[in-house]
Amino acid sequence: MTPGSEFKPSANVAQLRESATIAVSQKAKALKAAGREIIDLGAGEPDFDTPAFIKVAAQRAIDAGATKYTAVDGILPLREAIAAEANRAWKGSEKVTAAGVVVSTGSKQSLFNACFTLFGPGDEVLVPTPAWTSYYEMVSLARATAVPVTGNPDRGFKVSVAMLEAAATPRTKGLMLNSPSNPTGSVYSPDELRAILTLAHERGWWVLSDEIYLRIAYGKAATSSLDEAPSRDRLVVINGVAKAYAMTGWRIGWSITTPKLAAAMTAFQSHTTSNAATVSQHAALAALTMREDADAAVSSMVAQFEKRRDAALAILRTEPRINVLAPDGAFYLYLCAPGAGTTVDAGAAFAAHLLEKSGVAIVPGSAFYTPDWVRVSYAADQAQVEEAMRRLVAAFRDLV
Ligand code: PLP
Repeated sequence: MTPGSEFKPSANVAQLRESATIAVSQKAKALKAAGREIIDLGAGEPDFDTPAFIKVAAQRAIDAGATKYTAVDGILPLREAIAAEANRAWKGSEKVTAAGVVVSTGSKQSLFNACFTLFGPGDEVLVPTPAWTSYYEMVSLARATAVPVTGNPDRGFKVSVAMLEAAATPRTKGLMLNSPSNPTGSVYSPDELRAILTLAHERGWWVLSDEIYLRIAYGKAATSSLDEAPSRDRLVVINGVAKAYAMTGWRIGWSITTPKLAAAMTAFQSHTTSNAATVSQHAALAALTMREDADAAVSSMVAQFEKRRDAALAILRTEPRINVLAPDGAFYLYLCAPGAGTTVDAGAAFAAHLLEKSGVAIVPGSAFYTPDWVRVSYAADQAQVEEAMRRLVAAFRDLV
């Protein structure tokens, strides 16, 4: 092929923005490769290894021949285990069944399946903001319009019913929810969640509830939309093994919804990727069914995340001018960059300064549609997190 030959992206991807989180990670890796000592707090990936019992289950599955295609929507025992988990705290009559579960290649694919199957040209989708960078792009790839609804920073950027009502139009078709949230770490209380889900139910909106951080919560357990929705009728709950079980590379996520929508998403997936990797499905099955081992592994990781969160917050709070949200879940700190409100993209300027001058990689808030802010991941070694926070405080003081 001719180097540099012309390529014009199709209309499908012409508006696509590069994933800022992945861009930061790549820049940090490039600097490391060039010999710089970099503390990378950009990635949203647990630094822990996948628990041993899960790896053993996967090795056994390979030996037993789990090397072929499976059903497009996943192996039945895994879909049954996901349904059983979804019904654990549910007292209503609309129980989830395996027919309402679709297993995919990471929760990212589950979200994409749901957006592409439900939304199209002319539809608007409310996105409480800041939100994970890919929501906006996935809605756009479905040729629908993402409508950012910026929450109140004094409430951890959580949105209220009134804010959603104000942003809604007759074209509103859906709402993205994410609790605990990436990037803020905020967690919606059961009452807050119920109020929002009731509004969505009354308006006939589809709710896509991304619960990938559900098990990573501090103090109190986080609540699933499955347990607070007045009806499970227009609800898609998305989850996966990546974050809670330190299984990012295994690429298993799933959607839980009505059998009708599950069938439509399965048909869509049958033309894109077919089933998620067979051995990974068996690994996920172990994570969901070997409860004692799984609970012990999750508790131990969450306890370590909590320690790091507390240590990082303690250092940041030595500088009273730093406005940092106190997160109740996930593994991110969201803080206001120096120069916020006075420059166009204060978060990007601060992130660039911190990477170049202090060797710390973080993500600019523009990736989450709040350019005055930056996101710090504390899914990294505690001593490194603490050192990075000391450098961040020093850089902040230099710039204010
Ligand atoms: N949803 C949110 C909010 C995330 O932060 C991420 C990953 O960073 C994902 C989904 C994707 O997870 P998975 O690895 O299961 O595709």
